[in-house]
Amino acid sequence: MAPSCSPINSLHVAVIGAGAAGLVAARELRRESHSVVVFERNTEVGGLWVYTPQSEPDPLSLDPNRTVVHSSVYDSLRTNLPRECMGYSDFPFVPRPEHDESRDPRRYPTHREVLAYLRDFAREFKLVEMVRFGTEVVRVEQDGRKWKIRSRNSDGVSRDEIFDSVVVCNGHYTEPRVAQIPGIDLWPGKQLHSHNYRVPDPFKDQVVVVIGNFASGSDISRDLTGIETARKDGSIVFKNGKVVQADTIVHCTGYIYHFPFLNTNGYITVEDNCVGPLYKHVFPPALAPGLSFIGLPWMTLLFTLFELQSKWVAAVLSGRVTLPSEDKMMEDTNALYAKRDANGFPKRYTHRLGVVGQAEYLNWIADQIGEPPVEQWRNKELEDGYVRLATQADTFRDKWDDDHLIAEAYEDFLRQKLISAIPSQIFG
Ligand code: FAD
Repeated sequence: MAPSCSPINSLHVAVIGAGAAGLVAARELRRESHSVVVFERNTEVGGLWVYTPQSEPDPLSLDPNRTVVHSSVYDSLRTNLPRECMGYSDFPFVPRPEHDESRDPRRYPTHREVLAYLRDFAREFKLVEMVRFGTEVVRVEQDGRKWKIRSRNSDGVSRDEIFDSVVVCNGHYTEPRVAQIPGIDLWPGKQLHSHNYRVPDPFKDQVVVVIGNFASGSDISRDLTGIETARKDGSIVFKNGKVVQADTIVHCTGYIYHFPFLNTNGYITVEDNCVGPLYKHVFPPALAPGLSFIGLPWMTLLFTLFELQSKWVAAVLSGRVTLPSEDKMMEDTNALYAKRDANGFPKRYTHRLGVVGQAEYLNWIADQIGEPPVEQWRNKELEDGYVRLATQADTFRDKWDDDHLIAEAYEDFLRQKLISAIPSQIFG
């Protein structure tokens, strides 16, 4: 759908969350002339990347009344993708400023560097002035053709406000998914979810079974021991063949989408971790464009996706880009579900884009809003990055053979005048 030349509507829009998705959503909405309020329950921007040594009192996070700690970042975490492909299109994630020793110039920097980048981004585009910190959204519901938001500030004071539109950017790495293990109720050891893992010290001299093997699973298992395999009976096998009983199980089994504040009278559901119905993972057909979701897909260039989805939502709200009819959006959504089922994928894979799917998806959105397709080097860095992550889990953050892609990325940044020189640390 090509951008139209119709007059621009300026709407009053609420954004929930000031993480990497909410920040860029706020920027794009404001660029499109909307007035924006960002609700953020934390006291600073950055979302997941705001590390805290605190974890939740319930180590599996099963208690619905527990005090929620938002971040799932552990102390030793470094990014799982190269920084060049992680940044927003016009604010690259390059080492900056070059001579500040508190910054981490590595290609796969620590979580502190990502937070510093997001703070820089918020400062550069004056986004903080739109954020209401320490304010949690506790209820979102339709009010005629508008949306009512109930929020609660840090003094416990509640407030209801009316918005034309709500953009949900609350993140989805906070509500743990815990593996169901037969006989676990009788198992005498300790368990925790990776959401509540911070440092290896409490596990010193213990035998720990790590379940799950995506990026955080392999990091945490390297932090803790050098385990070969874990068996269902509770025993684990070390590389030297020794078999022992385990003290602790760490569930690195992922997270579930969770919108405790959202009341759509049952229209939007989360079933087996599929949020739906959603047109292109963003707009619920019957509630569009008033309600939208940024950042649900995974296995993709996340910051790029946040940015493109945000531009799309902002342009649809202003009337510059139109959505298909509700029926057409529902048809498209059902076709996606039918394809997923025909390919034998479980529902929980609905929002998994994967290397090929993600490029197609991002370029489709780019096309809707008249943006250029995602750079080839960016897609290739993601693709190569995932291969390295899978095949050299111990070394992928420090050894690579795609310097030519780094060069392409920096030449691109230079050409667009997004940087003034190639930082000296880039090629070591
Ligand atoms: P978040 O960063 O989670 O932000 C959501 C914000 O919403 C938070 O600030 C939260 O306080 C706020 N919020 C939530 N509920 C409410 C409410 N009711 N009211 C008000 N505010 C609310 N991605 C990469 O690109 N590279 C990586 O290397 C990488 N590593 C990762 C490692 C781990 C361990 C995990 C879990 C994820 C990683 N990711 C990585 C993915 C990461 O989630 C995204 O990069 C991104 O930061 C998520 O941004 P977000 O804004 O969607 O969510």
